[in-house]
Amino acid sequence: MITLKEALKLSSAELETLKDELREKIEAQSDINAYIDVHNVGDGVPIAIKDNIQVKDWSVTSGSKILQGYIAPYSATVIQKLQNAGLTPFGRTNMDEFAMGSTTESSCYGKTLNPHNKECVPGGSSGGSAAAVAAGLAIAALGSDTGGSIRQPAAFCGIVGMKPTYGRVSRYGLGAYASSLDQIGPMTQNVEDAAILYDIISGHDPKDSTSADMAYESVADKLDSSRKMTIAVLPKYIENASDDIKNAYAKTIETLKKAGHTIIEKDMMDPKYDISAYYITATAEATTNLARYDGIRYGKRVEGENLQETYFNTRSEGFGDEVKRRIMLGNFVLSSGYYDAYYVKAQKVRHLIKEEYEALFKEVDLILSPIAPTVAPKCGEFADPMAMYLSDIYSISVNLAGLPAISLPVDKRADGMPVGLQLIGAAFDEQSVFDGALSLEKELQL
Ligand code: GLN
Repeated sequence: MITLKEALKLSSAELETLKDELREKIEAQSDINAYIDVHNVGDGVPIAIKDNIQVKDWSVTSGSKILQGYIAPYSATVIQKLQNAGLTPFGRTNMDEFAMGSTTESSCYGKTLNPHNKECVPGGSSGGSAAAVAAGLAIAALGSDTGGSIRQPAAFCGIVGMKPTYGRVSRYGLGAYASSLDQIGPMTQNVEDAAILYDIISGHDPKDSTSADMAYESVADKLDSSRKMTIAVLPKYIENASDDIKNAYAKTIETLKKAGHTIIEKDMMDPKYDISAYYITATAEATTNLARYDGIRYGKRVEGENLQETYFNTRSEGFGDEVKRRIMLGNFVLSSGYYDAYYVKAQKVRHLIKEEYEALFKEVDLILSPIAPTVAPKCGEFADPMAMYLSDIYSISVNLAGLPAISLPVDKRADGMPVGLQLIGAAFDEQSVFDGALSLEKELQL
């Protein structure tokens, strides 16, 4: 597939031909179920959009039955930015319902398959965007990352996925899952395209009160893969990862050394605490954000005898099991008797995680970390929700600390399944994240 950088040079006529080819390919590979549907709303470079980012006049449902019938009355800031830069939203990609999940199996549109092995999941929750790029069904895509949902599917599908610093990209028009963790980011075929797309969607937005009010400096025109950096590696932290990941980690350290970077060994707090802090914070925020889906204001309504019953029927039928599980957990941790024991404690742990990263970034430019403990698992392997939550062990601290990180393919298992790792940077130092990733990508030549 043509890269984003190349596509930006095409004429309108060439882009039209490209879109026709894309439509044909999407149709031919509809079994992957990467797209929910394909609409074209302009004559720019086509970009696939996760189904939780509003595009004016599109049906946008966050992969949920409860939002079916809802038509977006306005476009998200990121969509406006795409359009201003000559790009065009082209197709909605499948996702876990309300971005809750790690496999894209909880969508009301059915599961998405991993193009590298159709028995495996593409990861989640932005699994549709990742599968679309990996299968050559999109030049590039937008995803959202609350606890790994850009980086983990990128790793499982062998593409590049980047989560910006919290506040860097506007959340205006993004369906909220956990507002203090969510960020939109690029999912692309290579690191340079990720930098280009990141530049296009970033910058302060007065419509998002959590958007960082600071001057924006573009990264793509300053990309420098020859910069020599100090990179922390975490031998003890990765002990519980699978052999596939550990082997790729060891090889990547050697590659980084070869590229001239300085590697230093560090350790971090046991990531089991990340899981607790994340699942308390994320479900607490989610339960609050999802309270608005009551059958009155948006999408689907299942009438009852009275208002109470209408709420009850709508939410019972509209939400899937995983979403209901999280609403219950979120209400529990916020309930008056348990608020201090769970929610407040989780915020304290979150603070410790942030401090730990800040201390590390006084000494190093980047941290090399796994994204997931394994390569893409088989469909249905996470029948137990707890097993799924535990698989987020390496991705979620980045969101709790609000940091930028990029996931890129570093290896392939003998059976062809991609292995990805992530480089994590200090807050607002996206330049180092992209420079380091580009240097690794060039040295690897996968
Ligand atoms: N797997 C994590 C969760 O289910 C992260 C999802 C995400 O980043 N949206 O919450």
